[in-house]
Amino acid sequence: MNVSQLARSIAESPTLKLNEEARLLKEKGEAVIHLGAGEPKNKAPINAILSSAAKLNTGDVKYTPTDGIPSLKKAIIRYTEENYDKMVAPENIIVSAGAKQSVYNLLYTILNPQEEVIVLAPYWVSYPEMVRMCYGVPVIVTPEDGSFHPRMKDIEQKVSSYTKAIILNSPNNPSGIMYKEEFIAEIIEFCERKGIYCIMDDIYHKLIFDGRKPISAYKHTKKDLENSRVIVVNGISKLYGMTGFRIGWTIAPKQLTEIMTNVQGQITTTTSVILQAAAEGALMGLQSIVDGLRLMIENNRNVMLQELQSFNGVKTTKPDGTFYCLPDFRAYNNNSLELSKLLLKKALVVTVPGKEFGMEGHLRLSYCGTIKEIKQGIERIKWALDPNSPNEIFIGERKLVRDWL
Ligand code: PMP
Repeated sequence: MNVSQLARSIAESPTLKLNEEARLLKEKGEAVIHLGAGEPKNKAPINAILSSAAKLNTGDVKYTPTDGIPSLKKAIIRYTEENYDKMVAPENIIVSAGAKQSVYNLLYTILNPQEEVIVLAPYWVSYPEMVRMCYGVPVIVTPEDGSFHPRMKDIEQKVSSYTKAIILNSPNNPSGIMYKEEFIAEIIEFCERKGIYCIMDDIYHKLIFDGRKPISAYKHTKKDLENSRVIVVNGISKLYGMTGFRIGWTIAPKQLTEIMTNVQGQITTTTSVILQAAAEGALMGLQSIVDGLRLMIENNRNVMLQELQSFNGVKTTKPDGTFYCLPDFRAYNNNSLELSKLLLKKALVVTVPGKEFGMEGHLRLSYCGTIKEIKQGIERIKWALDPNSPNEIFIGERKLVRDWL
């Protein structure tokens, strides 16, 4: 097949691949439990549905301005003021087809070939691939102390004259931990001193537990937006559980936003006006939906932690937010790909190998399903791995006997 070397080298998104595998198994009638998912099972907020339906009903579904419809931008401005305590102008905002496109578009806009982007492990699977797709070089920084929290001294060691940006995702996919505010302050100061872009992927910023408050990066820069190196990415996917609506946005200095708009204009033109209307509806509607979703996920997290606590040898760092935790399964297997495959084959549980996130020996487990799925999922994993657990289990109608330990 005659395709480019770069395209050939890009890895398939492991999470999307697992979704597909789980779907096919379910289609065959298998009792699969999906602990790999990155989306809750809620229905879209009614305001989002009404707003998009109203737009659709007009029949007037055309191109929109590339950077987003003015009324959605107004809603984003309001959101940013309320949640970040920051006033931004419409010219600072560009709306894209999900935060995924926002990050890609941004990297495409700022990177010259061979320039480096610092990616903090454990990291979202797409960052290194996106950097490479823009002819940049991802530089992975793994905390030397074995924790999930990045340390300034590890980062400073990896920064070079080629470093163009650092990407931060807090609370973090896949570990669920939230970075300390002092760390965020320190890294923003460092980036602005060195002229490095500090990309804050805030897609989970309100999905945080135990009474935590979202951190606004803008609080930690002394520069005005036009001169700051802080760039914020956010969206509706996780905030409202509206993953299929594909709306994300970037807040950046005006000049940068303008160039990002030129780039996007040559690729997708714009994102659909119906979906933009839905995002506007969600942002302008009752925000108690966000609290309801958060409380449900927080409760699920507690159940997941409780189930994992009684799992011999498995060490779990308590997640502060997101849908995920990243337990350490090295007591059972150092090879997370092998482990994840075994669990899918023997126990019909979907997990995501930690290797994909730069944390070998761990598995990412999602708690955005139902309590029943979480409990049964962990029970099945225990059954498959822990010799102290009963060696018979019912999966669907079938009684299975463990014969591999
Ligand atoms: N950033 C992170 C850290 C994510 O986990 C995701 C989705 N899994 C995204 C960005 C992309 O979100 P969206 O659905 O808005 O493209």
